[in-house]
Amino acid sequence: LVVLEGVDKHFGALHVLRDIDLTVHEGEVVVVIGPSGSGKSTLCRTINRLEPIDGGRITLDGEPLPAEGKDLARLRSDVGMVFQSFNLFAHKTVLENVTLGPVKVRKVPKAEAEQRARALLDRVGIGNQADKYPAQLSGGQQQRVAIARALAMQPKVMLFDEPTSALDPEMINEVLDVMTGLARDGMTMVVVTHEMGFARRAAHRVVFMDAGQVVEQATPEEFFTNPRSDRAKDFLSKIL
Ligand code: ATP
Ligand code: MG
Repeated sequence: LVVLEGVDKHFGALHVLRDIDLTVHEGEVVVVIGPSGSGKSTLCRTINRLEPIDGGRITLDGEPLPAEGKDLARLRSDVGMVFQSFNLFAHKTVLENVTLGPVKVRKVPKAEAEQRARALLDRVGIGNQADKYPAQLSGGQQQRVAIARALAMQPKVMLFDEPTSALDPEMINEVLDVMTGLARDGMTMVVVTHEMGFARRAAHRVVFMDAGQVVEQATPEEFFTNPRSDRAKDFLSKIL
């Protein structure tokens, strides 16, 4: 579904992505892990073209990513993104946050968008918060709104960049549970996370990055019990 071939990216003199080859199949859950600064966020951001690339190719459903205009807006709705900071619209209610994209970009009639938004809010366990404003919700609830908002666009793939890193410990699981549910329902997902429990439970494949390279890819069982590279062994010894 998402194919990266030989992707290169620089920030000035810094070579942040080096010849990345990565394929994400439909229905697959890929967890990306690696040290700070290894390029995980940048990798995610290239997939919805928040960052342009300097070399290589990225395709979604066989089509090259569009560079600009109408097609780019379409791409952004096909590729749902959830960040560490929830990035909700502070002056809009929860329901408005979730209906805005479908109404404005997808041209869904408002009543239908609201009906679907309420169903999504139920699915992420906050159906009763629809009329509140983001500031009135806990971090875990806000992140679930962000997930519902991305899902409302009916994306082909969901990207999560450390979705639980900004949350208090007791709220982490409520967000991971929603993500595990999505994975079970067959959503194609790329998840950058330090939550190794989630990786073991939900990932079909773990991708380990270091210094802008994909160093190793394996099933979670293989990766956590028998990492092949020294860099992965070293990383795991620090976090497990
Ligand atoms: P973390 O685990 O800390 O989130 P990461 O693996 O997500 O790290 P990236 O955010 O992708 O790493 O950053 C990779 C490298 O690129 C880092 O050295 C970072 O400082 C640099 N970088 C990221 N964004 C920019 C930018 N907009 N301009 C310049 N350098 C950047
Ligand atoms: Mg990051």
